[in-house]
Amino acid sequence: MPDTLRQNQDRDVTLITPTAPISAPTHGGRAKCLQRLVRLDLPVPRTVALSFGTVHRIAAGEMPDVRKILAQFPVGVLLCVRPSSEDPDWGGPGSVLNIGMNDAAFVDLSDSIGAEAASALYTRFVQAYAIHVARLDPDVFEEIAGSGQEALSEVLRCYEEEAEEPFPQDPAVQLAEVLRSMARAWEGTTARLLRQAKGAPVDAGLGLIVQEMALGLGLGERGSGVLQLVNSDTGLRQITGRYLSQSQGREALESGEAALYMERDPRGPSLEELEPEAFETLKHYVALMREKLRAEMQIEFTIENGRVHILDGVRVKRSPRAALRIAVRLAEDGIISRQEAVMRVEPRGLSELLHRQIDPEAERDVIGRGVAASPGAATGRIVFSSSEAQASAARGEPCILVRRETSPEDVRGMHAAAAVLTERGGMTSHAAVIGRGLGLPCVVGAARMGFRLHDKLLLAEDGRRFREGDTITVDGTSGQVLAGAPRMIEAALDDAFHIFMSWADAERDIGIRANADTPADATTARNFAAQGIGLCRTEHMFFEADRITPMREMIFADCPKDREAALARLLPMQRADFIELFRIMEGMPVCIRLFDPPLHEFLPSDRAGLRDLAEALDLPVSDVTRRVESMGEYNPMLGMRGVRLGIAVPEIYEMQARAIFEATLEASKEGAPVVPEIMLPLVSACREVELVRTRIDAVAAAVRNERGREFDYSLGVMVETPRACLRADEIAQHAHFLSFGTNDLTQMTYGLSRDDAGRFMSHYVQQGVFAEDPFHRLDADGVGELIRIGVERGRRGNGGVMLSICGEHGGDPDSIAFCRSAGIDYVSCSPFRVPVARLAAAQLAIKDKIG
Ligand code: PEP
Ligand code: MG
Repeated sequence: MPDTLRQNQDRDVTLITPTAPISAPTHGGRAKCLQRLVRLDLPVPRTVALSFGTVHRIAAGEMPDVRKILAQFPVGVLLCVRPSSEDPDWGGPGSVLNIGMNDAAFVDLSDSIGAEAASALYTRFVQAYAIHVARLDPDVFEEIAGSGQEALSEVLRCYEEEAEEPFPQDPAVQLAEVLRSMARAWEGTTARLLRQAKGAPVDAGLGLIVQEMALGLGLGERGSGVLQLVNSDTGLRQITGRYLSQSQGREALESGEAALYMERDPRGPSLEELEPEAFETLKHYVALMREKLRAEMQIEFTIENGRVHILDGVRVKRSPRAALRIAVRLAEDGIISRQEAVMRVEPRGLSELLHRQIDPEAERDVIGRGVAASPGAATGRIVFSSSEAQASAARGEPCILVRRETSPEDVRGMHAAAAVLTERGGMTSHAAVIGRGLGLPCVVGAARMGFRLHDKLLLAEDGRRFREGDTITVDGTSGQVLAGAPRMIEAALDDAFHIFMSWADAERDIGIRANADTPADATTARNFAAQGIGLCRTEHMFFEADRITPMREMIFADCPKDREAALARLLPMQRADFIELFRIMEGMPVCIRLFDPPLHEFLPSDRAGLRDLAEALDLPVSDVTRRVESMGEYNPMLGMRGVRLGIAVPEIYEMQARAIFEATLEASKEGAPVVPEIMLPLVSACREVELVRTRIDAVAAAVRNERGREFDYSLGVMVETPRACLRADEIAQHAHFLSFGTNDLTQMTYGLSRDDAGRFMSHYVQQGVFAEDPFHRLDADGVGELIRIGVERGRRGNGGVMLSICGEHGGDPDSIAFCRSAGIDYVSCSPFRVPVARLAAAQLAIKDKIG
């Protein structure tokens, strides 16, 4: 090796001093943190850092001069080696402790701590070395029973037999082998995949630190522990940690836990054993670290002859709710800026605060898995029909509605249920969309479970049977279905949450509205500070019991007169719906989409429903059945729906327009004038917009005339067919706004049924065909290209056109990033995703500001 190269390599083995050239991207987070502690003058044992480059070369077989590393430490001390990846959350190989332990050290240690404890420590080291470094058969070493010198002799004998050489006595050999094994472990495939799953890049490097062990074995008070000043679950101020004084520590030594390096478990033996003076010193150090390292830290310490040593410091483990509260407090204490606080909370984690969740510490008896379609968790008794769900709610018993899939008829059952579980469907299936709107935990597409609805039986993936009335839990955050009732933690919309969100809003530069169909949705949207309603799916208003019958009469009407009569019954109900929405939204924009789904979705599909309808219409069941069948379509999602209904059955849109305008006048009497936005779904041709717009303008003129009062409204188009994107130029000339319906647009761009994709999506994602479910995360390449074309052409056709998206992607942080970069004015998403969207949008703006 050329001399210059060797010199560089030597420089990559660096003693950690206040001025040593150490950084997280070259030596890892642990090394950098230790340097910060050294700079704060904390009593950190002597430590040497090996850079990513050095460790990489070690893995490739080029060992640095290990004797030079040893020369950094006093002769005869024991050492430990620990991983130091760039981001501590990426993990790394396990630490190896007590390097340097050999026959000579054993004799010395026996004098200071007794032969028993010294034997335990040596035995433990040989075992760890044999299994993790020499990679000998773990069974042989784990089975060694007994204690003291007998066990030690046995372990040394086993080592010699298995390794065909005596246990290495030279600390340099031990250290070199430890470094090699840790460097190689990092480069293994499993380790790489694991850290990549935690967000590490493919080429993430590993640094290592070699530290003198402060064993806590002196004559005065001695022991070891961990300490932090906040609770990791709640983020509230609470001193937690544990301490093993040597009286306990000796036991630990004897049982082989010689290292005295604790797991990072804040529970466990209490801190009461600590001498008050040492305790005060430790608290002072942690507080100092909080201020100077600008984060809540956990320290690992030992006490030796009453002297405190700080071995390590890491950011405390934080649940999302703790992360938020910690960030707010750090900013309030002037330690970090508000912007930085906003950046410190992961947007997706926020949804955990908005819903009840399964306690992360609780046992999980998982019986099935599906798509995590609507976050939060709920426990209840199994019911297999909507009517049972309602009966259960009436009895005050929480229930889980289990269906093959849900349809509009199940909406009332969903309202009554605590959670929903379906066999079929994906992120945009009926159950998923309604579930998110209601804030109802929902797992869909759990196809590996058995849904034997006729037998009122749910089969777990492992074959266990669950009957109606049995208790299960649906975890819509993870997609798991669990037996029984695990412990829950409640939603946390406290002061810290509101303060934090106000800081986020101050940074945000893209609007966030909510998709809300009902007064309850609208109220949730307001509570979560949505800036209006971006999509009100009016068809959801027709599922109530008192509406479905006139709706069906309207669908069955033979002539325009009968249809008008049925619509006249629906009109006041729609008007009342809109008045309520306008009142709740108090002058904020409300975008109402006219009727979208195929009409036959409102017709019954089972025998009992057909009989009820025949009775209501006073027709023979056979007639009704025939008519229902005749309305069936081969491909309803591409059939008579959306604006096509507006063209073919114009009376429906006219009724809806009238209801909107009359409600506008009514609600404007009380407060700020309402300017409704009316949106046409599934447009593919400019002429569709022209025709419908002419009719709606005529209704507006008629209402103004009748009431003698003026009002404004705007008319827009949902861009959810590829053709509408391509023809956005001419369409925008007839529209005040365009809203990309990314659910249908994804469906049509891929030719992928949004209701059936759940069946094979997991195969596609697992095999890497799609990086992600495109109904979940916007496909920026394909669907995104159509959106960019639509944005560009839409603006070309009408410079003042407002642009938004209202598909489910509106609540997904990555999709929001795309929308922002595409120049979209606002995104609209389910009410419960509004806070996530607000935070994600704020973080994007901050990233741009700080470069
Ligand atoms: C869409 O298609 O993206 C959309 C918002 O409408 P829906 O989901 O009601 O079809
Ligand atoms: Mg749509």
